Amino acid sequence: MTPPNALRDFVDRHERLFVLTGAGCSTNSGIPDYRDTDGNWKRTQPVTFQAFMGEELTRQRYWARSLIGWRRFGQARPNDAHHALACLEEIGRCEVLLTQNVDRLHQAAGSKKVIDLHGRLDLVRCMGCERRIQRDEFQHEMGRLNAGWLDLDAAVAPDGDADLEGVDFASFAVPACEICGGILKPDVVFFGESVPRNFVDAALGHLQKADAMLIAGSSLMVYSGFRFVQAAVRAEIPIAAVNLGRTRADEFLSFKVEERCEDALAFLLQPADTP
Ligand SMILES: [Zn+2]
Repeated sequence: MTPPNALRDFVDRHERLFVLTGAGCSTNSGIPDYRDTDGNWKRTQPVTFQAFMGEELTRQRYWARSLIGWRRFGQARPNDAHHALACLEEIGRCEVLLTQNVDRLHQAAGSKKVIDLHGRLDLVRCMGCERRIQRDEFQHEMGRLNAGWLDLDAAVAPDGDADLEGVDFASFAVPACEICGGILKPDVVFFGESVPRNFVDAALGHLQKADAMLIAGSSLMVYSGFRFVQAAVRAEIPIAAVNLGRTRADEFLSFKVEERCEDALAFLLQPADTP
């Protein structure tokens, strides 16, 4: 059993926390996660990089579903888990906040020392010329070209996706890059794609300066996040986790708090942030 004040003591004892966050931080903002408490997939696997780049119909299906899903994803607001971690930075105890989330809600809550390990969904990137455009602008253009699709609705799915099925995706018009005609892709790391090396190196640099690791809302089933646990083990710094259910790092943890992130981290909230 984890003592009730274990997390508070952990934060008090360590001045340079390497914070690693995942989907569990954002579920209370209305963004569903991919995995159940055993770390297994709740649904079919997301689209792979290879399928997205290689098949036009995959891109049409992705963007059509995303046209619907973005309406809610783009409106999501930070919850108390994000606010609590912003407070952690404000009191000077956050060395870096490495997030596997692509929703930018940590930044929206005020965190500045953030590395978006898996990219950000509010930007669209041209795979030809590397130009970035705002997702809102792209949304507008997709809506203009596919006016009939705007009336459709579907349940919200992880990563700005929506459970749109039974429609003719082949008739969906996907805009190409205005400059070079290249394929436009959300500026996030897809499954089957590698994380940009500079993000990994920057995060590992912070890990060398950290005196402990705090995991919040991640099962760490994806290696891109788990590798930092391995690095923390090698650096011999203690690791604590807040997560509902199993994590891939369980054997390395000093302790785990099995609560929702916004509850477990609530002690960090400054009085001004509580209503
Ligand atoms: Zn381009």
